[in-house]
Amino acid sequence: MIELEGLTKRYGEKVAVNNLTFAVRPGVVTGFLGPNGAGKSTTMRMILGLDRPTAGDVRIDGRHYDRLKDPLTYIGALLEAKSVHGGRSAYHHLLWMAQSNGIPTRRVREVLDTVGLSAVAGKKAKGFSLGMSQRLGIAAALLGDPRILMFDEPVNGLDPEGIHWIRTLMKALAAEGRTVFVSSHLMSEMALTADHLVVIGQGRLLADTSMADFIARNSRSYVRVRTPQRERLLDVLHGAGVTVAEAGSGALEADGSTAEQIGELAARHQIVLHELSPQQASLEEAFMRLTAESVEYHAQTAPAVGAGQVPPGQGQWGDDRRRG
Ligand code: ADP
Ligand code: MG
Repeated sequence: MIELEGLTKRYGEKVAVNNLTFAVRPGVVTGFLGPNGAGKSTTMRMILGLDRPTAGDVRIDGRHYDRLKDPLTYIGALLEAKSVHGGRSAYHHLLWMAQSNGIPTRRVREVLDTVGLSAVAGKKAKGFSLGMSQRLGIAAALLGDPRILMFDEPVNGLDPEGIHWIRTLMKALAAEGRTVFVSSHLMSEMALTADHLVVIGQGRLLADTSMADFIARNSRSYVRVRTPQRERLLDVLHGAGVTVAEAGSGALEADGSTAEQIGELAARHQIVLHELSPQQASLEEAFMRLTAESVEYHAQTAPAVGAGQVPPGQGQWGDDRRRG
């Protein structure tokens, strides 16, 4: 288990991590989500004792990282832009890590096998592709057979096969009862991988909930309606107790009613409809709403559409949306 309490990191005026309190539990994959610059990597570095908190505390199974004897046997981590000593072979890189952490040498071959690098074990790491380097970083994280694993943006730059492999591995590690904490700025990826979600924006905690709960609470369905007789339709819908919101470009979004019900209401009152379409809010949209207030810097480059709304394609989850 990883426990954070009031964890805070300032860089001068900048508050990179702001009073984070949450626990990462064993047996599930916990996704650590937030837009770029939200403070995910800084938080992970503090968990590993690589960065000193300005305030607050973080413990690994009740202890600070620097109090762990042979830390790689407690927690293994793949940090963003993992730097490997390029002149060493994959085998020797891992061997050196094993020897400095009291880990049996046979583990080196085992983890190289697990990550599929056995065939290139003797090759120098500096010749590795991004995907191979990522696999080597994961091998290093697994080396001490730790109960806690932490991965910072592990799928960055990987091809679909590599992404699928990492996703499967993380789930398998959690199924073995380990604590798995993985960061991403990609909604679509987390939705497929994580059982639990911790969401941050501008260093602050925005949500700490199960994925199932998040989906249940955020998969709002509504009906999109356009009509040239807007005022009349609004009267009729309000009269029928339907909640209606403005959706921009003259469209309306009606909640708590089906497309059939709205179509029949409109027909009864002889109102012409130009559009009547059932919609399902995606997880991406839910995250955009959740983090909307923590992206002031985007508001400077994109005109605001309305209170709490993020223009399509301008949100901090733009990467996801482009992936479709
Ligand atoms: P994420 O991993 O979620 O993208 P980071 O933890 O890398 O976010 O960064 C959080 C914020 O802290 C960013 O605004 C970043 O510019 C700032 N930051 C991170 N590391 C440093 C540092 N060493 N010095 C100054 N600012 C930093
Ligand atoms: Mg990062």
